[in-house]
Amino acid sequence: MAIIGGGIAGLSLAAELAELDGRMVERSGGTRPQLRIVLLERENQFAYHATGRSIAALSESLGSPEQRALARASRTILDALGAESGMPLLRARPVIWLADEDHLGAVNALLTANPSLRAVDPAAARTLCPALRPEAAARAAVERTAQDVDVDALQQQYRDRAGAAGAVLRTAIGLESGTWDATRGRWTVTTDRGELTATRIVNAAGAWADAVAARLEVRGAGLTSYRRTVAIASADGVGPAWPLVLDVANRFYFRPERGGLLISAADETPSPPTDAEAAPQDVTVAVERVTAATTLHLARVRTSWAGLRTFAPDRNPVVGPDPEQDGLFWFAGLGGTGIQTAPALARLAAAQLLGEPFEIPGLRPESLLPR
Ligand SMILES: Cc1cc2nc3c(=O)[nH]c(=O)nc-3n(C[C@H](O)[C@H](O)[C@H](O)COP(=O)(O)OP(=O)(O)OC[C@H]3O[C@@H](n4cnc5c(N)ncnc54)[C@H](O)[C@@H]3O)c2cc1C
Repeated sequence: MAIIGGGIAGLSLAAELAELDGRMVERSGGTRPQLRIVLLERENQFAYHATGRSIAALSESLGSPEQRALARASRTILDALGAESGMPLLRARPVIWLADEDHLGAVNALLTANPSLRAVDPAAARTLCPALRPEAAARAAVERTAQDVDVDALQQQYRDRAGAAGAVLRTAIGLESGTWDATRGRWTVTTDRGELTATRIVNAAGAWADAVAARLEVRGAGLTSYRRTVAIASADGVGPAWPLVLDVANRFYFRPERGGLLISAADETPSPPTDAEAAPQDVTVAVERVTAATTLHLARVRTSWAGLRTFAPDRNPVVGPDPEQDGLFWFAGLGGTGIQTAPALARLAAAQLLGEPFEIPGLRPESLLPR
């Protein structure tokens, strides 16, 4: 089995797949041969693209019902992984959604869809984040169970677990093409470092997943990538325990970060797959919007970066066997919630690949199948 892509999708799957396979070999009393799993990452390091550029939040009020079910299941998994290893992967940080008079419907829809949210009046929101201007919100909702994820520790833990369970993870090897041999039931994969064979390919190539499909001469999943720019600004008086504050109309978000304030205009600019760079105009807009919503003076932008968020047309992850091509499985389209959904998605995908049962409460796996 060859997994293409060493972001959170590929790394989480390599670990879950190798461990599940190990348990199945053990159960068979050694009569079942161990699966050979190799992960190929084109860059010189893992998690270089979207995974290394996220803002590492876990909120059960983001995205579609499917994404929320996946976030709930992932929170349970991440809690357990942290407890087992003695290194917590989550740290509580509430989320506050703000709505102005024009967007009361949006916050009401969030409150209806998500039982973990509580409506609060703007004064109560200001006790959690005293820098909010009174006029910044006509209504607010708080999610107290939201978390920060330690993404570095998480991807390192997946790499360690994958390696310990026998998977081979390689950087600086990119898939160039692949040919399916239907008679033998296997791929011949050409990389920039030579050829290999695999009975199955998992396409976990993030923004490049449709490009990888094209290299395998398979129809893509209709993915579109959008650039998002984030910056950290210096500001006096930022409380380290302040929540992540999000505008329901997706015009900005901010939260404390390294003694300053992490800010974004929540921009979504369509982009081809690329090594995304921060757009100065998006930083300027983020500064303006956060300044308008708070009493903070954002003195200086210390750093900024951008990453690509890659979506299928219905904005749900694309996970499952290709409908037309044998030997190809998709684990892509993780959009803006890949960190907080990959732990549960990887368990689901590993179970599907090895023919084992696995259920995620509130999720119909068919809703994620590639079309
Ligand atoms: C600014 C920003 C903020 C975000 N905030 C959050 C958040 O708070 N919470 C959350 O859950 N999510 C967040 N996300 C989304 C999250 O980062 C993504 O959903 C997730 O990282 C996607 O992971 P991935 O493994 O699919 O893609 P990637 O991390 O991009 O990995 C794909 C990998 O495939 C490799 N690859 C491509 N082509 C080939 C090839 N031919 N051969 C070999 N390798 C190849 C690439 O080099 C890349 O490393 C955010 C994203 C951005 C940009």
